[in-house]
Order: sequence, then structure tokens, then C-alpha cells
Amino acid sequence: MSQIHNSQLRALPSISRLLNTPEIRGVLERVHQEAVVRTLQEVLSRARDRIRKGAMAPAMPELAVEAIAIILEAGQPRMRRVVNATGVILNTNLGRSVLAASAVAQVAEIATAYSNLEYDLQEGQRGSRYEHVDELLVRLTGAEASLVVNNNAAAVLLVVDTFARDREVVVSRGQLVEIGGSFRIPEVLTASGARLVEVGTTNKTHAADYERAISDQTAMLLRCHTSNYRILGFTSEVSPRDMVSIAHARGVLAVEDLGSGVLVDLGAYGLPAEPTVQATVAAGMDLVTFSGDKLLGGPQAGIIVGTQECISRLKKNPLLRALRLDKLTLAALEATLRLYRDPSSVHREVPILEMLSRPLSVLEQEAVDLAARISSISGLVVSVRPGTSQVGGGSLPATDLPTVLVAVGAEGVSAQALCDRLRAGSVPVIARIERELLLIDPRTLLPGDVERIMTALAEALR
Ligand SMILES: *Cc1c(COP(=O)(O)O)cnc(C)c1O
Repeated sequence: MSQIHNSQLRALPSISRLLNTPEIRGVLERVHQEAVVRTLQEVLSRARDRIRKGAMAPAMPELAVEAIAIILEAGQPRMRRVVNATGVILNTNLGRSVLAASAVAQVAEIATAYSNLEYDLQEGQRGSRYEHVDELLVRLTGAEASLVVNNNAAAVLLVVDTFARDREVVVSRGQLVEIGGSFRIPEVLTASGARLVEVGTTNKTHAADYERAISDQTAMLLRCHTSNYRILGFTSEVSPRDMVSIAHARGVLAVEDLGSGVLVDLGAYGLPAEPTVQATVAAGMDLVTFSGDKLLGGPQAGIIVGTQECISRLKKNPLLRALRLDKLTLAALEATLRLYRDPSSVHREVPILEMLSRPLSVLEQEAVDLAARISSISGLVVSVRPGTSQVGGGSLPATDLPTVLVAVGAEGVSAQALCDRLRAGSVPVIARIERELLLIDPRTLLPGDVERIMTALAEALR
């Protein structure tokens, strides 16, 4: 080690001198001394590394500023709000659905107090957590009974484990789906100790295929909604009603994994009609499973509705204890389901449905207003153009929703660099890029997001 390194290393201040700088003394009023000392040690060690590589010793205020930045960062939550400017409504990476205001209020109420989670107020004795949403689910879906678990993957697992362990589950080859996060129907079946019997071909499965596959080993016929892809062209599937007839004629169960259970007629919003939970129940399925945080617009949950007999069996499975829903989720789910009691206002109350049903004329006005705001920042080139939003989250595949996009270019900054800087902002903005332009879709913006985008753009150009 050279003389110059040694003298520079000696020039570094001690921890106690750093603790006495005005900057650090200010921090000590709010942060425990031990944590501050640990950070100062880290900062000094980094400075030593830099000196050994030939740098000069940093001045004391510089070290203090570096330490303060680390301390402030450590005080920030890791999980943060972001602005979803992508136009993908249900983005699993960005947290899927946004809760309705009444659901948030109910979570706050239940989280900050004791509750009747498992207490029957009438009888003054132990109650069931599943009761709180049962009546609502029964009324909304037309099923006899319900059960809720952590997510739809857990719902499918519980159903297969309860009824098909060491037995056979018949699934059409056209429906062997993989959902993001490597949830594959065939693997879930195997993990629950069931044997998968594939029938039909990728594009066509007929009633006779199911009929031939049923044996004394068969526990159920399982339909999986192909929620994140669509097979087009020369295709045929067996309808839920026909599958139910085939299953019941042979004394086996008919089950449907609907994925993104919708409770409203999407056709009314000008979207392709998705099979609703009600219609699937009405087709006679013994059990129907769906997610709480896809098109329902509630919290992460797996909802199972079906016959009283099947639901009672599910409730007796010891696995249920491991899959059970948390009280905050339950509070959010109950409040969300309550909104569906009024079909005429639900699309205004549930943010996911509001985004889905927002008229193009409104989106256009929002895009024009946003573009006008952004064009006030110098150095940016802004325009408005037609484009498409997506439902995402494995719902309504191949459905593009017409929207109006704001395209932003920055002089001397590539679209990718601008996108990266927006993502690194104090409130990260997630946008998409097409042909060297950053695109902002107003459809997925929430109240206050325009201001957040303005701040992020100003920060990005600084
Ligand atoms: C999304 C989906 C699942 C998984 O649901 P989670 O609630 O994410 O666990 C299962 N099956 C289908 C058909 C889906 O679309």
C-alpha cells in the first residue's frame, strides 16, 4: 500500500466526529444511535475501498450526506405505490386489482379493532369465519353454498385433494392451462395426488371423448376456463351444461375452474361476453372456483361455490386450515361483494370495473388534458393517438380495449432511458414503449396520478 493511500485513509474522520456533525445530530433525533453508527461504519468502509482504488478521502459533510441517504432509504417501505400507466388493468406484477373505497374502509375498521371473525354474536359462542361472505355469495351466484380460501390456485388444490386424491380427473387437452407464476393445472392435479386423464386434442374435444374416459377410477370432469389464451379456428369444446350431463349420468362430479370469475355481464360494457359465475352455476356444476382479485376487483382470494354436499366435504378437509383466508382479506372481500348487490352502480364503485367500462370519449378527454399538462414541461414532445388497453391478469385474452394514448418523447433522451428514469422516480411510473415513444394510457390512472406523472417527468429531466 502506497504512502498516499495511508495518508488518505488517516484523513477519514472517526465515527465520533461524524456523530457530532450538525447533519448527523439532526438524524439522531429521529433514528436510534446504534443504527446510525452501523450506517457510518458502512459509509467509512466504502470510502476506504474507494481510497484503495486511488480516490481521495471524502470530506466530512460528504460522508454525512451519504449516510443520511442510506438511513432515509432504509426508513422507506420496500413495497410502494406505483403509477400504472401501462393500460393493463389487471397486472399481476403491479398487484392486480385496486380495492374499492368501501373495501379499504372495512379493512381499516376490522384491522384496528377486535371483531366477530369467528364469534357468533347471537349465540355468544364460536362461529365460522366463512359465514361472513356465504350469504352474499349464495345470493349473487345462485349456488347452494360457498367457501373461500387464499387464492384460486388453493381453491383448485383443495377441490382436487378432497375429491380426487388417488383417483382420476378428466381434463380436455385444450384446457391444460398454465397461469403466470407457473401454476399449471396438470401439476396442481399431480401435487394433490390425483391422476390426470387427458382427453380430446388441443383444438377439439367432444362429448364422446369425456364419455370414453370415465372409469370406476374417475372422480371428476374438470373444465378449466382458458382465461389467458384462446384457441381459434377449427375448434370445439363441450359446453358446461353437456359436461354436467355426462358427469352426472356416470355419477362423477363436474367442476369448473373459471379463473377470473365475473359476476356482471361484460357484454353490457361493450366487451365480449365472458361466462359469468351465475351462468356456470346454473349449468349445474357441482363446484365452481374463481379468483377474488381478477375481474371481481377484490382482494386476493379463491372463491368456491357449489352444492351444499360438496362444500361440506371441502370444509372437513384438514388442508383448509393451511389455506384459510386472513381476516383483512375477508373484510375486503365482504365489502367488495356487497357492492355487487346493486348491479347498476357496481361499475362505478369497483375500480377494475370502472376502468373496464370507461367510455372512449372520457379516455380521449383525459388523454388531451394530460398531454396539455405534459407539454408545459420544456424538452418534451407530446402527442395523442389511438391505441389499445388490455384487461390482463389472464382475463379476456385477445381482447383489445380501444383507448387514447399520450405519447411522450424527450429531446436527447431515448424512450428506454426516459422509461427507466420514470421507474426510478420518488413515485415510480410504469409506462410502455412502442416505436421509440413512451406511451401513457389514461385508462389505468387513478386519482392523483396525473400529478405523480408530472413530478416523475420533472425529476426525470432534471
Ligand atoms: C388465474 C387463474 C388461476 C389462479 O388463480 P389465483 O387466484 O391467481 O391463484 C387458476 N386457474 C385459472 C383458469 C386462472 O385464470
